[in-house]
Amino acid sequence: MSRVAASDLGRAAYCPRQLYYARQSDDREPPDEVRARRELAFRYPELREASDDRLAERPLAVSAAEYRDNLDALAAGPLWDRLVEPAARDATLTGQDCRGVAHKLLAEDGSDPPIPVLVSGGVPPPAGVWEPQSVRAVALAKALAWEREREIPRALVEYPAVGVVRPVRLTTRKKARYRELLRTVRSLDGPPPRIDDDAKCEACEYRGDCGVRTRSLRSLLGL
Ligand code: SF4
Repeated sequence: MSRVAASDLGRAAYCPRQLYYARQSDDREPPDEVRARRELAFRYPELREASDDRLAERPLAVSAAEYRDNLDALAAGPLWDRLVEPAARDATLTGQDCRGVAHKLLAEDGSDPPIPVLVSGGVPPPAGVWEPQSVRAVALAKALAWEREREIPRALVEYPAVGVVRPVRLTTRKKARYRELLRTVRSLDGPPPRIDDDAKCEACEYRGDCGVRTRSLRSLLGL
């Protein structure tokens, strides 16, 4: 059975119909703003020392003072050295069912296994991580576990525009959701029903396509 892209699992977690539209589209590159924010994740020491004026030139999602506080808190934690100098950047991981890119791969540290990191271009929810990112993080951990033939009990989601890192543990519930979404993605062969979630639809880049009923008819007719 073919391997599913971790990013497709994330899309399916948001809305299976959105995944359908994304697959029809050629544009799979992240927007420039997302790339610029992700780049911040590789400049923490420099950003920690930067003046307010310098920080104001960066695509931060919080004030300079809050950003510095967040990086200081991160630096006081146990993962700082590995986050600042990851063992690999943009590491493609290939598992039994899934493949995906870990924007950072943190080296193992004593008994602590290696950790795949998904670097987000957005901001975190008040607690934990957004579900599509959680699913992608689980997929990366599963792929890494398959490659290394060892248990990878957690992944991280990093929000460099805020200077915050959140863990994703591979709980039974999260692994069940991952398997459920694998089935959803593998069985996708036409546009799934719209979801009933105004907030998600409001933020969806395929909102226009989704509302145009003639689109699927046109593609069926090959027009
Ligand atoms: S507009 Fe809503 S239902 Fe349509 S694809 Fe986007 S999230 Fe899904």
